[in-house]
Amino acid sequence: MTDATPAAPERNDFIRQIVREDLASGKHAAIQTRFPPEPNGYLHIGHAKAICLDFGIAQEFGGRCNLRFDDTNPAKEDPEYVQVIQEDVRWLGFEWNELRHASDYFEVYYLACEKLIRQGDAFVCDLSAEEVRAYRGTLTEPGRESPWRNRSVEENLGLFRRLRAGEFPDGARTLRAKIDMASGNINLRDPALYRIKHVEHQNTGDAWCIYPMYDMAHALGDAIEGITHSLCTLEFEDHRPLYDWCVDKVDLAGHPELMAPLVAKGFPNTAAKPRQIEFSRLNLNYLVMSKRKLLAMVNDGLVDGWGDPRMPTLQGIRRRGATPASLRLFAERVGISKQNSLIDYSVLEGCIREDLDAHAPRRLAVIEPLKLVLTNLPEGHEEFLEFPNHPKDESLGARTVPFARELWIEREDFAEVPPKGFKRLVPGGEVRLRGVGILRCEEVVKEGDTVVELRATLDPDTRPGGRAVDRKVKGTIHWVSAKHGVPAEIRLYDRLFTVPDPDVDSDGKTYRDFINPDSRRVVQGYVEPTAAGAEPETRFQFERSGYFITDRYDHAPAHPVFNRVVTLRDTWSA
Ligand code: ATP
Ligand code: MG
Repeated sequence: MTDATPAAPERNDFIRQIVREDLASGKHAAIQTRFPPEPNGYLHIGHAKAICLDFGIAQEFGGRCNLRFDDTNPAKEDPEYVQVIQEDVRWLGFEWNELRHASDYFEVYYLACEKLIRQGDAFVCDLSAEEVRAYRGTLTEPGRESPWRNRSVEENLGLFRRLRAGEFPDGARTLRAKIDMASGNINLRDPALYRIKHVEHQNTGDAWCIYPMYDMAHALGDAIEGITHSLCTLEFEDHRPLYDWCVDKVDLAGHPELMAPLVAKGFPNTAAKPRQIEFSRLNLNYLVMSKRKLLAMVNDGLVDGWGDPRMPTLQGIRRRGATPASLRLFAERVGISKQNSLIDYSVLEGCIREDLDAHAPRRLAVIEPLKLVLTNLPEGHEEFLEFPNHPKDESLGARTVPFARELWIEREDFAEVPPKGFKRLVPGGEVRLRGVGILRCEEVVKEGDTVVELRATLDPDTRPGGRAVDRKVKGTIHWVSAKHGVPAEIRLYDRLFTVPDPDVDSDGKTYRDFINPDSRRVVQGYVEPTAAGAEPETRFQFERSGYFITDRYDHAPAHPVFNRVVTLRDTWSA
């Protein structure tokens, strides 16, 4: 179910056009991309868009894609994130060419910065963070040059070595690029390249007490790996001049001595000049997607961890039951452009339904049960009926469904006082039992106001092969044999937020105030035996109800647990 990608429009976005031209003109013999997550949280559906683009383009054009952890901020990073990110990328259906860490390159970054110092392109600055801010200027006013900007090369080299040696406390000094304090682009006003942080790193331990800043590390990481097309989201557009500055001033491709520490560790020297191209972020309504807010929701117990089935993380979406193919389809539908837009959550649900409708076997399950007894069948009557697994795909085969005198039906398929237009079972009324025949409700058994049982008769002539098999009634309902049905825990999930824009703070309210209290409801239902016996992470359509998956962690045949992936139809549209 997870391998076939359903039909999707031809991919011809502006990035693929650039790649095509670069291959046709011979600018690149082969393309190399990378997906560069920072391991400071779990991946979310927005990252899926970037993954499908980075890995997808490499695949389509016969190129390669690396997975690179941009792990330059040790305080926020964790090996757990490093593991889960790898699992998520593979689950989405992609495999990296090489697994890299920006921290693999720390020595190269360091040598690159010594080169910048020698060229007069970087200096050690003694301003505090607060002073740096004051000197930076604003969008309308130029900044002022640091008083430390004109230190000699020797003094800068000496100080930078002492930074590395750990002689100064956090924040005492930085290494800064010497670019242009009057630039209209604030990113070019002598940005920091290195900062002091006496913090242990998840990959390099206590080898370093200075860490490179993201812009420099990212640009040089791409250059080191010979990335041809470095794809990132639009907020980095203003950083591109700095990206190019770092790549050009350091010129790793022209300076193999800077790559020597990597070559000594067994890495090939693939240094080349990369090109950064920006595309719009994925934004989905009814969600929050910043890692910072997701982390806060986890820490504050608003959800059951990063992998809660209501979370927009890939772990959450997976546990909830979406297929990798449906996420790839979603990424295609959303497309690649430079226009920021807000995608409706129903687009994602539509992709999930489309994939599951085509591939998920059908099963009978009753979610909120009511007992129904067919009084004209003998006590102990039982039959084993053959049901096709899929109405449109014979290759999915058939299964045996036990049928008996006592059944569970859906409580909401019966109405003592039917609302207008109700087509299902009413006292004295008839309805078709899916795959069996027509029954008539003869008696309603109540305890107080509560209906506890229906007693009905089955018309034998309407059974398959009977002479009135074509007789028409308005409604068809599903059922599970009470004797054979297996009790199951059914987790009914819905959208986590009640409003389309939980991320927009208004009237002193934040996303925390918009959590949907009905986003998780647990009921006890009954499923046919072949559903209960399924492996974890098996998806089904429960006829007339929706799509369900056996829970990845809690499901066992003796204690079946199903998560609702999505309802059959969109229940949120007006
Ligand atoms: P957040 O802002 O939620 O912390 P991030 O952008 O900092 O996320 P990274 O780990 O840096 O997360 O992201 C890795 C890659 O995924 C980057 O190239 C980034 O541009 C891309 N990415 C992140 N969020 C989205 C999104 N919503 N849509 C498309 N691509 C995204
Ligand atoms: Mg980021």
